[in-house]
Amino acid sequence: MPIYEYRCKQCHTIFEKLQSIGASNENVICPECNATKPEKILSAFSSSGFMSTASSGGSCGPSGSPFT
Ligand SMILES: [Zn+2]
Repeated sequence: MPIYEYRCKQCHTIFEKLQSIGASNENVICPECNATKPEKILSAFSSSGFMSTASSGGSCGPSGSPFT
């Protein structure tokens, strides 16, 4: 199973979650503030500067999986 990286929309905490491929963020809960549905960060973008580019996009599709 791959490890997905999430950023909480409430407290902006970034954490990792082990999930099966294609899993949504519906059941992911922030370890800091217990907020649900954090923003998924694609590992391809998490090399260095993702924190400055991850927001203000609004291009999140209907939970489509990039792996299929
Ligand atoms: Zn949080």
